Amino acid sequence: MSDTFMTKQSATKHRLETRAVHSGEHVDKVTGASAPNLVMSTTFASDDPAGFSIKEFGEERPYVYTRWGNPTIDMLEGKLASLEDAEACIALASGMAATTTLLLGLLESGDHLVISDVNYPGTAEYVRESLPKFGITSTRVDTSEAQLVADAIQPNTKLIWVETPANPTLRLTDIAAVSAIAKRHGIPLAVDSTFATPIVTRPLQLGADCVVHSLSKYIGGHGDAIGGAILGSRERMNALRNDAMIHLGGVISPFNAWLIARGAATLPARMRMHTESAMALATFLESHPAVLRVNYPGLASHPQFALADRQMDLFSGMLSFQVRDGDALAYRCAKELNVFHFAVSLGHSRSLIYWIPTEAALSTGLSLDAEQTKRYREFAGDGLFRVSVGLEHPDDLCEDLAEVLGN
Ligand SMILES: *Cc1c(COP(=O)(O)O)cnc(C)c1O
Repeated sequence: MSDTFMTKQSATKHRLETRAVHSGEHVDKVTGASAPNLVMSTTFASDDPAGFSIKEFGEERPYVYTRWGNPTIDMLEGKLASLEDAEACIALASGMAATTTLLLGLLESGDHLVISDVNYPGTAEYVRESLPKFGITSTRVDTSEAQLVADAIQPNTKLIWVETPANPTLRLTDIAAVSAIAKRHGIPLAVDSTFATPIVTRPLQLGADCVVHSLSKYIGGHGDAIGGAILGSRERMNALRNDAMIHLGGVISPFNAWLIARGAATLPARMRMHTESAMALATFLESHPAVLRVNYPGLASHPQFALADRQMDLFSGMLSFQVRDGDALAYRCAKELNVFHFAVSLGHSRSLIYWIPTEAALSTGLSLDAEQTKRYREFAGDGLFRVSVGLEHPDDLCEDLAEVLGN
């Protein structure tokens, strides 16, 4: 297994585009195959009488059983670690498996978590509804104001969790500023960087301790494989792998790992095109008379444009916008769009649009306190359309939306 990692090490010297293609991969010694093998085997024949517990193996463990380790999953982990400039990566069955593995791995009964008040709904619900069952409490704050994060820290705070850009507001968190606060208190900082990807922002370089990705989105990129990943120090990732991953069992299918690694090879090229087309669509929407507001970090009108410019190498392909009668437009979008699919999820080659009514956002995912609810209502009106700009020609996307928006 060790020579598999030689390629990974040497490839980290190259630029992101080269690493996306080469890292984690190696020429197959038996067949000379250039493209990565897919190893679906659940078990591995052994010459040695091996043990039954992962604890019996050290760093250089042999392949025994796929939930403990698999060459195709290693290949994906090597590629992602290289792209994030991380010491180590663990790939899991979904973004939520990565999120829960990290939360349960780092927190224990009596601990407190400081978390963004705007999050992916699954994360928000899990923190609100499930963590209290294990005696873990949380405070939700607007992490775009670093001082609010500092104010929420308690003596038992053991983790700070931010999502940037955040779903669906496209609000940003200044990772370097929050990381300085986290370091001052000796608390690890985790960043859900799904909307950004390592091509846009590399949170570990800005001082974060862990990065979480849903690989089902941009990194896989084709809308055909669910997966997740956590990245960080080798020590922390080993502890998470041995405890939460092997025992909780959220292992990714090698087939999905293979598909996602294949997608990741083109991530830098795709992110450039997602950004270019999202900018075109955001500009079109901003000038359209039926549109009240467009949220896109690449627009000068974004309230944190200066931070976006500093923290994001590209602006990614996610935007949201608001119109006067959202319900009516949502109906037309579902029935009449030809290029877009009216569907949840994001980061695919195909463009997706979805309607997030404010009442639904508040009652399910967000569940904010009175002041935060008031602010979200002021921001989002009766709802937001979330758009994941795909790889179609931007003019076709603008024309498709122009049809339903009317004029
Ligand atoms: C989709 C998503 C998740 C959850 O990922 P799954 O792969 O669907 O489990 C977490 N965070 C963000 C920001 C997401 O967009």
